[in-house]
Amino acid sequence: MDVTEHSEHDERLGGHMFHIHFEDGNDLWVNGHALRGASCALRSIVDEAKPGSKTTLDVPSGGFEFLAHWLKEGKIEHNGATDLATIKNLCSAYQIGERFSESPHFIDAVMDALVVAVTATALGGDARTVDQSCEVMRLLNSLFDECTVGRAFVVDWIIHGEPGESSKDMVWADSEQLAGVMSEAHNLQSDVCVVMMHQKLNKATHPWVVDGCAYHIHNGEGYACYRT
Ligand SMILES: [Zn+2]
Repeated sequence: MDVTEHSEHDERLGGHMFHIHFEDGNDLWVNGHALRGASCALRSIVDEAKPGSKTTLDVPSGGFEFLAHWLKEGKIEHNGATDLATIKNLCSAYQIGERFSESPHFIDAVMDALVVAVTATALGGDARTVDQSCEVMRLLNSLFDECTVGRAFVVDWIIHGEPGESSKDMVWADSEQLAGVMSEAHNLQSDVCVVMMHQKLNKATHPWVVDGCAYHIHNGEGYACYRT
């Protein structure tokens, strides 16, 4: 049967389950109607698939799960985990959102989960090792280009994230290694210098707490925050 002919029917029945296979070997079954509504890109994929077949997507399944959950529940399923695997999946979800979601809210919601996952150590969670923090920075650097709200977060995290006095702050203890990773991202060091000159160091409150929308896109402009 042709999926396009049955969208009304699908809606009434809650939609058929669309089989997605991922190149990492995992499979997901996602409501076909919800997928079609997510973006033109996903609508084409669903409409072009043969009924009953599976469609292979070249994105990480761990990232796509966040979008699948969003389409079903309207929220990000993030339990506050701060481990590298979670951060990697959230980074994938952000990229998947840019490609496969036309929602004005999905990317901002992913960003909030990402900010929590990255900064929770500074707010009392388990400390990362220097190597782990450098890996987090590499993930963020490959996700966010210059002059994006994401890059602004990376800069704020470098400056305020691990302020350095307690045992939790070993993250930036190796400044040489930190500088090395920073130098891998174009202009990141100079961005940090500029922002540092404009901010007082050792603020009592972290920047991401002061302005909850600091790293949101709001779909360009004209959309209310998903949290309002
Ligand atoms: Zn916002």
